[in-house]
Amino acid sequence: MDFKQYITIVEDYPKEGIRFKDITTLMQDGQAYKKAIEELANFAREKNADVIVGPEARGFVVGCPIAFELEKGFVPVRKKGKLPREVISVDYGLEYGNDSLTIHKDAIQKGQRVVIADDLLATGGTIEATINMVEQLGGEVVGIAFLIELTYLDGRDKLQDYDVYTLTQY
Ligand code: 5GP
Repeated sequence: MDFKQYITIVEDYPKEGIRFKDITTLMQDGQAYKKAIEELANFAREKNADVIVGPEARGFVVGCPIAFELEKGFVPVRKKGKLPREVISVDYGLEYGNDSLTIHKDAIQKGQRVVIADDLLATGGTIEATINMVEQLGGEVVGIAFLIELTYLDGRDKLQDYDVYTLTQY
């Protein structure tokens, strides 16, 4: 399936010069959304994932249905102040801004095989921060799955030690 035909490019959003890849039009199409999730779920299945981790908010849209499909758990990574129990946190840089991400301290067991899922790989900052926290908790990142990769931002350079799978590239 050509997933690009379901993704809308929005010029100058959220800032001038950014060509935002809007996945809501893919999600609106039941068959395209299902097919995209199935492909990423197959990758996670091949990696023998014990648990799926996804950063808010679009990482939930991708990661939760993968976890559901594999009958595995899903662990949310959220911005500071959003998770109710004890967390660990890490600062990270975005394509447009800086922030801090958190994960519940008891969410990953030592030695668990973790697949991280998100909608889009840009600079890789979000995923690098997510990997950092998963590894601090003793998880093994066995794969990283994205709908979209922006190859011109070289996010993969930060992820050279990991198996990165992307459905479509710009
Ligand atoms: P990175 O940390 O790799 O630089 O940025 C990736 C994160 O920013 C992802 O969590 C993604 O949701 C968000 N993001 C950055 N640019 C875009 C975009 O063009 N489209 C979408 N859907 N998300 C983006």
